[in-house]
Amino acid sequence: MIQSRVEARDVADWKTALRQGVRDLRELLDRLGLEPEALLDPADPRSEFPLRVPLAFVARMRRGDPHDPLLRQVLATMAERDDPDGALDVVGDGAAMALPGVLRKYAGRALLIATGSCAIHCRYCFRRHFDYAEGQLSATRLDAALAALHADRSISEVILSGGDPLVLDTPKLERLTERLASIAHLRRLRIHTRLPIVLPERVDAALARWLRALPWPSVMVVHANHPRELDAAVATALRTVAASGVTVLNQAVLLAGVNDRLEVLTELSERLFEVGVLPYYLHQLDRVRGTGRFAVPDAQARTLHAGLRACLPGYLVPRLVREVAGAPSKLPLL
Ligand SMILES: *Cc1c(COP(=O)(O)O)cnc(C)c1O
Ligand code: SF4
Repeated sequence: MIQSRVEARDVADWKTALRQGVRDLRELLDRLGLEPEALLDPADPRSEFPLRVPLAFVARMRRGDPHDPLLRQVLATMAERDDPDGALDVVGDGAAMALPGVLRKYAGRALLIATGSCAIHCRYCFRRHFDYAEGQLSATRLDAALAALHADRSISEVILSGGDPLVLDTPKLERLTERLASIAHLRRLRIHTRLPIVLPERVDAALARWLRALPWPSVMVVHANHPRELDAAVATALRTVAASGVTVLNQAVLLAGVNDRLEVLTELSERLFEVGVLPYYLHQLDRVRGTGRFAVPDAQARTLHAGLRACLPGYLVPRLVREVAGAPSKLPLL
């Protein structure tokens, strides 16, 4: 009885936290003690990819700092409107859509777009132009997707992605993995999510129980770009995931003005390891329209990566990669 009361409170907690995320620019700036004039590039309050950021993430931003690296990740700016070099689908997701909600790019792996929504809207996101109404796995499409996974015995790993699959509530995730469990040739499950970083409340008792009960060795790939994203609440959430028997990896995106300095990337790796996470990928930005202000030149990316190799043990050096449409894997930047 006591346990179910605790879990009822957990459920309300993360969903409330998700709902309470900031969507209003004025409110965000007020919370940070910033005047709109303090922003170098004026903010755009009416973007087609609207502002959205959980309070737990806002709380880690430095008050009064218009250049804060966490703020920079979420602030819509007027520069996004004037970015002629960006494309709409640079990573080839349109072509890789095997059927609605299922992306097949790489051998052995199928990626499910479990939902189109996210708790946070990252300005550099390559999915910001993706047609989720077309692409996401609605209830009616799930049957077809599962039938395709059943039929293709070459698929050994299913990746739950999106959007962010942990925006779905736990009973829904349980129903999904119960259905996946009937596919005998699946050997691994992977979850791509930013929620343990931006909304650590999501890692509650029910989620941990779901993770522990998964019938496959499982991997969670989280997404943090700056060491300051990993505060005490996030550390607790990540340790809970790891204690559920799930391998936890991190992917970051190399972002100008956020983490394009050697000290920041080194500290990100060090801090990840402290909270039980290994660095996996450092992505060179996918140049979709509206993301130009985050681009880091390849030469600088290579220099930073060489710097990481020179000062960290090999297991703390993420693979520096770029996604190229049609390539058989993410490509190392050599
Ligand atoms: C990135 C990606 C994967 C996973 O690639 P890994 O190199 O295994 O991490 C799988 N499917 C799609 C469609 C992807 O974009
Ligand atoms: S959480 Fe991931 S998918 Fe969602 S907006 Fe951010 S980078 Fe994109």
